[in-house]
Amino acid sequence: MLKRDDIWLLSRLDYIWTEYFADVKQSNKIFIRFGRYARFRLGSIKLDQKKGYTFITITSIFTNPQVPIEVIDHTIAHELCHYTHGFSSPHPKLHKYPHHGGVIKQEMAERNLSHLTLAYHKWIKLYRKQLENAK
Ligand SMILES: [Zn+2]
Repeated sequence: MLKRDDIWLLSRLDYIWTEYFADVKQSNKIFIRFGRYARFRLGSIKLDQKKGYTFITITSIFTNPQVPIEVIDHTIAHELCHYTHGFSSPHPKLHKYPHHGGVIKQEMAERNLSHLTLAYHKWIKLYRKQLENAK
């Protein structure tokens, strides 16, 4: 099994972009990396206004090989939806808020990514239970 490091993460981003977001232009430099061991914030996307670079950060919890790849792919795809909608990216803003009325779910479905949404919901249920039990 491949080690889940930042290079692996970049390969997942490349794969998802090529397969499902090929129509979305990459109009600035984008970096992706594992961040801190965040239990609730699984992913985030930020734009460095000065440099014009986009930074995607994924929780280090996902370096655990027990977390299904689909869950990580889902998190990356979610952030790419934000990028597509003009949040933390140079693209024009399509909505007032990044999570406006189910726009992410719709975007995922239109891009044939519902299987990732499904895998994510399955996993997050178990994960939340684990967190509950660890209290
Ligand atoms: Zn989001």
